[in-house]
Amino acid sequence: MNINWYPGHMKKTKESIQRNLHLVDIVFELLDARIPYSSQNPIIDEILGDKPRIIILNKSDLASERGNSLWQKYFDMQNKSSVLIDALNNKGIDKLMELSYLVTEEKRDAYEKRGVINRPIRAMILGIPNVGKSTLINSLSRRKGTKTGNRPGITKTNQWIKTRGKLELLDTPGILWPKFEDMEVGLNLAFTGAIKDEILDIESLALKLIERITMNFPNLLNNRYNVDTEGKMYLDIMEEIAVKRGCLIKGGEIDYTKVSNIILDEFRKGIIGRVSLELPVDR
Ligand code: GDP
Repeated sequence: MNINWYPGHMKKTKESIQRNLHLVDIVFELLDARIPYSSQNPIIDEILGDKPRIIILNKSDLASERGNSLWQKYFDMQNKSSVLIDALNNKGIDKLMELSYLVTEEKRDAYEKRGVINRPIRAMILGIPNVGKSTLINSLSRRKGTKTGNRPGITKTNQWIKTRGKLELLDTPGILWPKFEDMEVGLNLAFTGAIKDEILDIESLALKLIERITMNFPNLLNNRYNVDTEGKMYLDIMEEIAVKRGCLIKGGEIDYTKVSNIILDEFRKGIIGRVSLELPVDR
């Protein structure tokens, strides 16, 4: 998906989310667990006000365990509810359900006192492109199995997707714009594929990624590509990977584009290893 964000578009997005806020009890704010700061919309607090919110650190399977635990502690310290999810493999869904009940407890109690029982908990999913919104919707609704599938008309008219328990999801997630703050944030978004590779040419982007991985996770490139990275220039590391992976053009020249694509692709799929690109201590 390629969205060009411009001020008018941002304003419309903000207004449309705010118009829908009263329909839901809770907002699921999806962040990429590898870059929770960079993947957060810059004015999300202003958009949501005091609407109950759960921060979902999605793609936690691709982030380091240490990074995941530091970010959870960070949000705990701020009294913000957060949960680690791997939407692709349905991990963390139970915890998300548990939190959803907890966060909406007061509201549910108030309804029960007024005699309204079994009222669904309604949620809306928000996040920047590619953070896993559709995957999470699938993951949550799949659990309901055939029932949802057999009643497409009802789901459609109501605009609610029934999931497990009492949870219902608004069928269209809100697509938020990312931060356009500085080069660092831009790089993080490009490494993870949240913005397409327009920020830098692909070779420079891959070279920057080699730098980041080598500095913070010194063994990963060695483990994956069998290259010794210690004390080496990043370009030399890239060239060695190219040779190992046969990224050569006629005459034995390095095919930089090909090797860069391999490195970025394997990073994004988690094949290189679990990498948190951002830790709360950096912020
Ligand atoms: P959306 O643009 O926010 O709706 O993002 P999508 O749901 O289309 O997901 C973008 C990409 O991320 C897809 O290739 C998904 O398979 C992948 N993805 C989503 N969630 C996860 C996750 O928790 N772990 C991993 N490894 N990949 C995920």
